[in-house]
Amino acid sequence: MSWQVLIQSDVVPYEPITRLLAASDCCLHWWRDAEPPRDIDYSVIDGIYSYGHFPVTRELMERCGRLKIVSNFGVGCDHIDQNGARALGIPVGNTPGVLDAATADLTWALLLAAGRNIVTGDHFARGPGFQKYDAAVLLGQQVTGATLGIIGLGRIGYQVGRRAIGFDMKILYHNRTRNASAEADLGARYAGLDELLQQSDFVALNCPLTPETTGLIGARELALMKPTAVIANAARGPVWDQEALLTALRAGHLHAAATDVTYPEPLPRDHPLLAEERLVVLPHLGSATQQTRDAMSQMSVTNLLAGLKGQDVPYRIA
Ligand code: NAP
Repeated sequence: MSWQVLIQSDVVPYEPITRLLAASDCCLHWWRDAEPPRDIDYSVIDGIYSYGHFPVTRELMERCGRLKIVSNFGVGCDHIDQNGARALGIPVGNTPGVLDAATADLTWALLLAAGRNIVTGDHFARGPGFQKYDAAVLLGQQVTGATLGIIGLGRIGYQVGRRAIGFDMKILYHNRTRNASAEADLGARYAGLDELLQQSDFVALNCPLTPETTGLIGARELALMKPTAVIANAARGPVWDQEALLTALRAGHLHAAATDVTYPEPLPRDHPLLAEERLVVLPHLGSATQQTRDAMSQMSVTNLLAGLKGQDVPYRIA
């Protein structure tokens, strides 16, 4: 008997996933648009494999008559109604840990790109304006010895902190609860949100998107930051207020910003943020290395199959 799996993706999924699913006797029903498809029989669906970020609502889970598992490709599950899944007794699996290094590396790529004018510099070096070396152009902010503030010092944030040690940085962090082992390992100091923003030269957003973190960084918080500060968002777009960020950048408050994530994602092509030179924007590349994608594929399919078979889901968040 094959398992009936609703696979959510508006692009062709990373190849190992469909190979692993086909080898596991899964019959795939494609969900390619924002709305779940109308032409499938939900009463036979055993599992949902979430590859894109379309919302997995309680109503959808209830419609799937035989649903045993929701497996997410990725660690961030803000698009899945986890409380709804708990209420229905449906396990939700994700892929923690295997993407920490890749996402921390990318957080650093964002911080360095914004702080050291890498993208602007690349455009300048290729353009007609670069005729003579000039030691006074495109001055960035010193990374070595600066203060880094990590908002969300969990698995990924910890790896961001580890990398900061190589830059001789002082590390502040803000979570809802203190992380004693990270304090000991990294020499990080716990700070309230306002204090972290006031004292940091570089700020990394690495928290999950929750009702509490939605709009965590707004106009008031940006105003607390140093005018020379750099902020990078490797979490989720709605963690900061994009309009407030644009206003702060246009006003020359902040040296620069960088983001891997936006809302909506992607932004409309004529969105003013895309025209802002002091913002580096990436297309959600946090965990996008071949090695990490392979590990995420394996882990998410393992979760799916365990749930389908009624076994314990190895990486379960709900
Ligand atoms: P994690 O281990 O659960 O760490 C999250 C951290 O955020 C925890 O230390 C948590 O501490 C803190 N946090 C939660 N709510 C907070 C709040 N209201 N204020 C301040 N801190 C808060 O998660 P992770 O694996 O590191 O992943 C973090 C997030 O990164 C994911 O949820 C995902 O959205 C994002 N991500 C993005 C990419 C990308 O491609 N850009 C890739 C992977 C992950 P407390 O519980 O003590 O508050």
